Amino acid sequence: MAKILQPDLCVIGGGSGGLTVAAAALSLGASVVLVERDKMGGDCLNYGCVPSKSLIASAKRAQYMRTATKLGIAAEDPKINFGRVNEHVHGVIADIAPHDSVERFEGLGATVLQGEAKFTDPKTVMVGDQAIKARRFVIATGSRPMSPPIPGLSDVDYYTNETIFDLTRKPQHLIIVGGGPIGMEMAQAHRRLGSDVTVLEMQAPLAKDDPELTNIALKQIRREGVDIRQGVKVTEVAPKAKNIVVTIEKENGETEEITGSHLLLAAGRKPNIEALDLEKAKVNFDGRGIKVNKGLKTSNKRVYAIGDVAGGLQFTHVAGYHGGLVVRNALYRLPIKNDATIIPWATYTDPEIANVGLTEADARQKYGDKFKVLRWSFAENDRARAEHVEEGLLKVITTPSGKILGAGAVGHNAGELINIYALAVANKMKIGAFTKMVAPYPTQFEIAKRIAVEFYKDKVDHPALKFLLQLNRMLG
Ligand SMILES: Cc1cc2nc3c(=O)[nH]c(=O)nc-3n(C[C@H](O)[C@H](O)[C@H](O)COP(=O)(O)OP(=O)(O)OC[C@H]3O[C@@H](n4cnc5c(N)ncnc54)[C@H](O)[C@@H]3O)c2cc1C
Repeated sequence: MAKILQPDLCVIGGGSGGLTVAAAALSLGASVVLVERDKMGGDCLNYGCVPSKSLIASAKRAQYMRTATKLGIAAEDPKINFGRVNEHVHGVIADIAPHDSVERFEGLGATVLQGEAKFTDPKTVMVGDQAIKARRFVIATGSRPMSPPIPGLSDVDYYTNETIFDLTRKPQHLIIVGGGPIGMEMAQAHRRLGSDVTVLEMQAPLAKDDPELTNIALKQIRREGVDIRQGVKVTEVAPKAKNIVVTIEKENGETEEITGSHLLLAAGRKPNIEALDLEKAKVNFDGRGIKVNKGLKTSNKRVYAIGDVAGGLQFTHVAGYHGGLVVRNALYRLPIKNDATIIPWATYTDPEIANVGLTEADARQKYGDKFKVLRWSFAENDRARAEHVEEGLLKVITTPSGKILGAGAVGHNAGELINIYALAVANKMKIGAFTKMVAPYPTQFEIAKRIAVEFYKDKVDHPALKFLLQLNRMLG
């Protein structure tokens, strides 16, 4: 057996969360062992954010070509070379990969072990025959696609996010099980790249977001030809010649068969915990993931869990946020608090949907009717008009005194617009702060300024203001 490694930190998983912890700890002079069993960069780089956003970029460009007429350019039916699209997607991954590579992390001073980590007791992890007894362990092993218990699934070739980006030929008819963010992003992208697409969703599509916002995006996605079936249960799948037949049961009990060329499962995620032998580490977990307290510590005080495996919001920026917190506590014992209420998220459909803090429904549950909802349409924004991206809505939720509780947007670049509200929510800012700033004209950001002015609209009826105006008139 090799010499036992005794670093300050042993990070298990070289994805978004694990790499954040490793890079930050190394920059602060800590010793780090980083363990990765598959590809460095994890889900986000190899099978998630990066390939999906790259595919969406190709799809968006194709759509712009189709819809150029309203800007005075002859619209064209784009000639899509799916193989080339695939090369673009993998080119972007390859471009980013060096930043997440073994070489980079070894260069920063980490000991990188390529293998599967397993606990053998509460203080020891083994990777092959290498033992690691770290001062602290960080589990950042992420999640993987869940296969729903659909009869016949094992008889057909199906895709998940781990395989769909390997397609070099356009799927003729892609059937997607699951209408969450991943399912809807993939649905619109493939439709724009020329596939027929059917989405099968048991409840409502994009159900975690505000329906007033999602309805605007879903209307557009349907308009582009994606067949979204909601309230349907997939009861069976079966192969038929070169195709796949999916049987669905509708809310009224009727059944229907849908035939497609490809099947994509986007129906939830499972935490990667099985290989870790968590019982031996005395780390508690359930089906959603590893149980952590507000300080991201597990039931074993030497062990933290972060990112997707920690069972909360599953986003790259959450894994990164967790990583930053854990380094402070693990290296310096500084107090930390994982605050999920400040986390924004975006769904990269076109129009995009983004949110931070409380939605209108959350606010109603928490404050009854003691809150304000401000709305501003993108159609009122000159930049949106100039670019013909008028379909969109910003909603801001405040307390009666103007503290920003949350914001949600649907529209062109809504994911960018939400950043300023993420700043506002994290810093408990009031809407008045937006009235003090000047936004360059014409930018989409002016919407944020206009909506703030809306907050004060009913205040012009205040008797004191009316009196002041009257007084000034009298004074001449
Ligand atoms: C299609 C898709 C699109 C997405 N788009 C976005 C997006 O636009 N924005 C966003 O914020 N999020 C997005 N996500 C979510 C994002 O990818 C994840 O939230 C993020 O990758 C989680 O980071 P993590 O560090 O927790 O796990 P990961 O990045 O998955 O890293 C975990 C790593 O641990 C390794 N591992 C597991 N078990 C072991 C073991 N026992 N020993 C050693 N190594 C192990 C794995 O191989 C993996 O590399 C998307 C996800 C998908 C599937």
